[in-house]
Amino acid sequence: MDGDTVVFDSGERLRVPSVDCPEVGRLGAEEAREWTQRFLDRLGRNVRSAVKTEGPRDRYGRLLMDVTWEGESLSNSLLSAGLAWVYRSHDPDLLAIQARAVEQRQGVHVILDHAVADGPFVLTATSFHRPSCGLIRKRTAELPWSARAIRPFTEGKAPCRRCLSWPPWGPLGGPDLSGSLLKKI
Ligand SMILES: [Zn+2]
Repeated sequence: MDGDTVVFDSGERLRVPSVDCPEVGRLGAEEAREWTQRFLDRLGRNVRSAVKTEGPRDRYGRLLMDVTWEGESLSNSLLSAGLAWVYRSHDPDLLAIQARAVEQRQGVHVILDHAVADGPFVLTATSFHRPSCGLIRKRTAELPWSARAIRPFTEGKAPCRRCLSWPPWGPLGGPDLSGSLLKKI
């Protein structure tokens, strides 16, 4: 369906835990979807045995499960490619992969060199928000307009799904990044 949600022919839905991909219609969303499709295609028929049907589910009833191929998980590979960011997790391994992808401006992180991605942002334990967001409970810091969005990502804070659509543009909005996005993938 998109990079982090898979719908099987049976109707079973799987959500890759601890990462979030660009929403449909946003820059990088189509690339993330294709990435996950290719990852699952490599598993081929084995995907059926790789996916359990019992396990924890999110509030939408989606099975929370990662998929692994030859020692690499789907979540790790999406993070490495810069097609997802860490979501509600402080797993140091995931944060290290994300820090490297941000440093190298992989995938959608190419936008971090563009001023349009600037704040102000309010940081909480797991996310960053627009200052007016109603989901802010306990703020840990506030970044001024001049601050780039690099710091929240290197600290493992995901863009809020309510007050921020991330990346800030659709595939046709903002500067033309399609060339660099595709090149890096
Ligand atoms: Zn928010």
